[in-house]
Amino acid sequence: MERIIQPKQVYTYEQMCLDCNRLMDRYPSLISMKTIGYSVGKRKLIAIKLGKGEDKIFINGAHHAREWLTTTLLMDIIETYAEATNSTSAFETDKIKEILNQCSFWFVPMVNPDGVTLAQSGYRSFKHKDLLIEWNKGSYDFSSWKANIRGVDLNRQYPADWETIQSDPGIRSCENFKGYEPLSEPESLAIYQFVQSQSIKLAAAYHSSGEEIFWKYKSETELEKRSKEIALQLANVTGYKLIYPSENPSGGGFTDWFISYYQRPSFTIEIAPYIGPNPVPLDYYASIYQQNKYVPLLLAENRNL
Ligand SMILES: [Zn+2]
Repeated sequence: MERIIQPKQVYTYEQMCLDCNRLMDRYPSLISMKTIGYSVGKRKLIAIKLGKGEDKIFINGAHHAREWLTTTLLMDIIETYAEATNSTSAFETDKIKEILNQCSFWFVPMVNPDGVTLAQSGYRSFKHKDLLIEWNKGSYDFSSWKANIRGVDLNRQYPADWETIQSDPGIRSCENFKGYEPLSEPESLAIYQFVQSQSIKLAAAYHSSGEEIFWKYKSETELEKRSKEIALQLANVTGYKLIYPSENPSGGGFTDWFISYYQRPSFTIEIAPYIGPNPVPLDYYASIYQQNKYVPLLLAENRNL
């Protein structure tokens, strides 16, 4: 059967929605979809459920606009896992079957669909063109845009030491503005409310770049030991390095919030070799996929740690 996800393209929001429907059609007993909110630009925020089990794992991508290759990666992995339940698959069939009976993965592959659309297709389809150019520091090239469509950084919006976030520009910007209050943006609010509505055992947030894994936020407890054990396994399968945060971490990120609020492990995974404030070149994709395809499985296997 032909694969649904075609990763060697600029993977758009529209393509993702189309592919979600195709995945549900092909794997109706395994995959379902839920709208968890709407972006500023009224795009549906899509969550995809994979699996039939009680234990829930949550994985998100593309909080940051230019990091849209994380969406491609998560969609591709969803298809690989669904496909693996066919006995003809070469990918860990027995393990995946068992895990998908015990667990459900919830994916939000694109937290920031307006921002991704701006980064991929430019400013022309947006009404507030002049403001976008101003927030983009006068540039007409939006490929490195990071924020949502009103210039707020969605991964600096969560209620975890939000007040003391460092290097905040104080005004709307293509990157780094934390907003005027936590969860002011509908995209981060939707993630926050969705996670609150579920009982999530473990979480991961995908970003780019740097081949790094953030696994700790301020904890000096039993949780830190458990998180580190999982982080070491993640480092082992991905080849990425573990980051030890400073004593005074900045805060406001999804992972910071999840760890501190739930006292459960969460990981921020930065795909691709460091490429600065740019989208990850498609040429890097094949190795990124190989490095990350075991990550959801590994998280699920460690869910009771
Ligand atoms: Zn990021």
